[in-house]
Amino acid sequence: MKQILIDADIKRLWVMIEASTNIVLTCHVRPDGDALGSTLGLAHLLNTLGKHARVIVPDQPPKTLAFMPGYKELAIYTKHDPYCHKLVDEADLIICCDFNKLSRLDLLEPLISESSKPKVLIDHHEDPDYFADITFSYPDMSSTCELVFRIIAALGLYREMNKEAAECILTGIVTDTRNFTVNISELDIYEILMRLLEKGVDKNRIVKLSLNTRSLSSLKIQAYAISEKLEIFEKHHGAIITLDRETLQRFNYEKGDTEGLVNMPLEVKEIVYSFFLREDAEYIRVSARSQYNFPVSKVCEDLFGGGGHLQAAGGEFRGSLEECRKLLIESMPKYDCYLPKAGEYNEI
Ligand code: MN
Repeated sequence: MKQILIDADIKRLWVMIEASTNIVLTCHVRPDGDALGSTLGLAHLLNTLGKHARVIVPDQPPKTLAFMPGYKELAIYTKHDPYCHKLVDEADLIICCDFNKLSRLDLLEPLISESSKPKVLIDHHEDPDYFADITFSYPDMSSTCELVFRIIAALGLYREMNKEAAECILTGIVTDTRNFTVNISELDIYEILMRLLEKGVDKNRIVKLSLNTRSLSSLKIQAYAISEKLEIFEKHHGAIITLDRETLQRFNYEKGDTEGLVNMPLEVKEIVYSFFLREDAEYIRVSARSQYNFPVSKVCEDLFGGGGHLQAAGGEFRGSLEECRKLLIESMPKYDCYLPKAGEYNEI
């Protein structure tokens, strides 16, 4: 496996872990498979070393991830506020996973940022805030879970990794790479997969539960969105899906129901990027995906105060759904320069 981590960082991390008994791990608001996988995976490992590791999440994670070992023991800040304060007060070390800015902790931000405890950041998003004592920031990684695996291996703790830890880490890799189809830049990921499978993990089960399981309402919303609310902009090789509040309510929308929807237009030949605009209570939630290295992160940064990865990004828009849609359509020509040239599309 390619050596990407810095020895001195690993040594310092080990010193910090050794000096700690109570360890708090935390991740971004609206936690996904990678956020839960990295925190829970590391927590399982630390607990096998005899530490007291606990994961605090800013808000309720999706129920679709309830199969992950340790899900039931999560401390949810919006639900267990005083308990989370106690955990942070008693912690000797705080490990932050899968976010680059403290603001991604949402309501949990003050508790973590005002704590004087030593902190470690482990993340794969561009341009991190350097608030931690050690920062592991590797935007080329497929997922924070891939990075967590590499850190565990570099610490010489692969043998100590139990099946529960391996399950959590593989869940993060599977969800962030959509079962090894996107965000992969290093072949090492397949060696990591093999090492995780050697722990007895059932990959097909994880893929089924984390990617290929949804509620009936989710299936119906997504089918409706594709049939009725998808617009294709051929000249710009772009797609937009819009869903307003009324429609969401009609389908009894629940959090997580539109997961994955934004990826679907990319299955159409020569669609390079796809935007999904959803009218939430306070703002328009923007999600974007692309291929051929089209920088949706830049579009989200420029137009929607957001960002993310080159091919998977998001943001928010304050205003009406229609204004948001118009802004995006009017801005499309500005980004034509990032489209692939005529011969560069995959031949089918
Ligand atoms: Mn991630």
